[in-house]
Amino acid sequence: METPMGLLVVGSIALDSVETPFGRTEEALGGSAVFFAVAGSLLHPVQVVGVVGRDYPMGELQRLGQRGIDLRGVTVADGESFRWSGKYGFDLSTRDTLETRLGVFANFRPVIPEAFRDAEFVFLGNIDPELQLDVLRQVHRPKLVACDTMNYWIQGKRTALLRLLQEVDVLLVNDSEVRELSGDWHIHRAARWVLERGPKFVVVKKGEHGAVLVEPGRTFYVPAYPLDDVFDPTGAGDSFAGGFMAYLAHTGDLSSANLRRAMVYGSAMGSFAVERFSVARFEEITLADVRARVRAHKDLVHFDLDADL
Ligand code: AMP
Repeated sequence: METPMGLLVVGSIALDSVETPFGRTEEALGGSAVFFAVAGSLLHPVQVVGVVGRDYPMGELQRLGQRGIDLRGVTVADGESFRWSGKYGFDLSTRDTLETRLGVFANFRPVIPEAFRDAEFVFLGNIDPELQLDVLRQVHRPKLVACDTMNYWIQGKRTALLRLLQEVDVLLVNDSEVRELSGDWHIHRAARWVLERGPKFVVVKKGEHGAVLVEPGRTFYVPAYPLDDVFDPTGAGDSFAGGFMAYLAHTGDLSSANLRRAMVYGSAMGSFAVERFSVARFEEITLADVRARVRAHKDLVHFDLDADL
């Protein structure tokens, strides 16, 4: 049997305490690498690099990997795991960070194990862009590198971030981040600004309004799946990234048509993430559920031109 394409994620591994208008959870599995890995592993095995304290429930994370989450790149350090807590407003689109306790994450220096260095697909979760660059120096020759970032780095580490952009293929961010990065409120102009600085594609996530893939001269929209209930938006973006990258790694096809399919898998994973707290929804679903939701997306945007005027 052929060895599957390696899919590597480097990012935060957290314990999240989240309050929404519908309830609260304490110290649940969270962090960018966790959402990415749990969602992505429904489609393809995922290799994780991150750091935790001795208090982290690693067994639980391992158990959640449907096609395998390889945790050989997770360092267990002396000290507390990274803890994040947030509270959402009534419409779930505004979030206040209540507390960020970095713990062992403060001294995180990613070391990519030898066994992961040939990964063909690499996702650099939201960490210091200097560390993201450092990861790229350790991997051999990936086919596709995607990265995320956040306003904190856009403001504080702009030079390193611009250097990173020259070395990645895909920037995957939300609308406020691409606006802040480019200094342009207009999403498409902002995405084109990014395309001029290195990446071949930009994926802009717009929460309940879906996501956009911008390539030079081409744009593709995927709607957010219209759920009856949204419970907790935390991690939707990282789950989107997990679905997007795992679909590409599984198919090994970087054509424009396949990138569009990957967008739909990303959207499907984002929609599952928000149906429960933490990664709980991914425990309940199988590949068949993912496929069904992907098919439902097709119906959402399909229309028949034959009946044109
Ligand atoms: P998102 O909803 O996409 O913003 O991602 C939420 C996840 O990001 C949560 O699970 C948090 O644990 C994690 N997180 C929050 N703040 C940070 C940070 N400063 N660095 C890395 N990860 C973070």
